[in-house]
Amino acid sequence: MHEAIVPSEVWDQVQTVLGTHRSAADATQVHEHYLKGTVFCGQCGSRLLVCNAKSSQGTIYPYFVCASRHAGRGDCTRQAMLIEQVERLIERFYAKVQIDPETIEAVSAMIHARFDEMMTEGAAELADLASRRTQLEGEQQKLLQAHYAGAIPLDLLKREQDRITASLETIEHRITAHHGHYAAARENLDDSLKLLSNAADIYEHADDANRRLINQALFKTIYIDEDNDVRVGYRNPYDGLSLSGLHADALSWAAEAKKMGQVGTATKGGPLVASSHLTRLG
Ligand SMILES: [Zn+2]
Repeated sequence: MHEAIVPSEVWDQVQTVLGTHRSAADATQVHEHYLKGTVFCGQCGSRLLVCNAKSSQGTIYPYFVCASRHAGRGDCTRQAMLIEQVERLIERFYAKVQIDPETIEAVSAMIHARFDEMMTEGAAELADLASRRTQLEGEQQKLLQAHYAGAIPLDLLKREQDRITASLETIEHRITAHHGHYAAARENLDDSLKLLSNAADIYEHADDANRRLINQALFKTIYIDEDNDVRVGYRNPYDGLSLSGLHADALSWAAEAKKMGQVGTATKGGPLVASSHLTRLG
């Protein structure tokens, strides 16, 4: 069913992104409404609880009610909301979550260019590590030669070798981490942007269990306001990637890069990328 609307590779990406949330959700949330735990009262910020109201004809209407108001705590006056209506509001909100292809491409290009810059900045440190490694390997050779010439006793040789080996391991670890950090961050960025570029289509056709997972992956909180507006608190990295300021900057960055005929000359993404915590993508 999903494959007809959403390309299967995109669906696979979504499953990857959602993978970490799945096991916990499967174990505990089987019978609960898929929005429970994610939706909150827009007036006071309390959780919304599921309540069933019965009409005079005996028909059951499931409602969301503010937990504070329901318990008689505080002075929240939020009216109960038909669950079906809240479901529709959030479906409609996903049109705002989904980012158009042109913007996605610009954001992707700008942040990847910023990663390129950061890797270049890290290159000096990498060069230092590499030369330190060469130096230590040289020391290892000299020690061995001194030992063979009878100048160094075996126990001293062993101590020195252990010290050098430990230093080399630390250096190898830092070089590997340097490469791995950016590779993981770039992959995570691509996965996250793919989800944002298809979010509305995916959500519309997802079953309840997958709707819960997508909501939990994207949002810390979904507030239903008095006037039936939907406000959300995004999770990292979607909080940064959804900033309209970032989108505007990315589009003008991309236009400028196109004009210059090359990518990677502008640095406009720098402070924004840093402030939106995208460097922690990995
Ligand atoms: Zn409330």
